Amino acid sequence: MADSDISIDAQVRCVQRELALRGNVYKKRIAAGKMDRQDAVKEYRTMQAVVESLKSISFQKTRWLELIDRSSLVLTKCARCGSEVIILPDETAKCLSCRDATGK
Ligand SMILES: [Zn+2]
Repeated sequence: MADSDISIDAQVRCVQRELALRGNVYKKRIAAGKMDRQDAVKEYRTMQAVVESLKSISFQKTRWLELIDRSSLVLTKCARCGSEVIILPDETAKCLSCRDATGK
């Protein structure tokens, strides 16, 4: 699976905009009796959890990059699909999916 060319920070901002939009829509739907308040809260909190998960991924990725900088590991692109892959200096640049697919 190739990495998205859209940064995680951009994804976070997009989901936060969606969250604000939903907040407004849900208020109107609840006021109009078209949506249960508990359902709205659950949906809203689930979307907030998506934001927190994305932020966590962003943080973990930053940590990984710091650790890679201090090690002999190399961050490069998979030669087959272009996904980011972390390898030893003498290893073939292939992600796990492509290694499984090609048996190497
Ligand atoms: Zn690959």
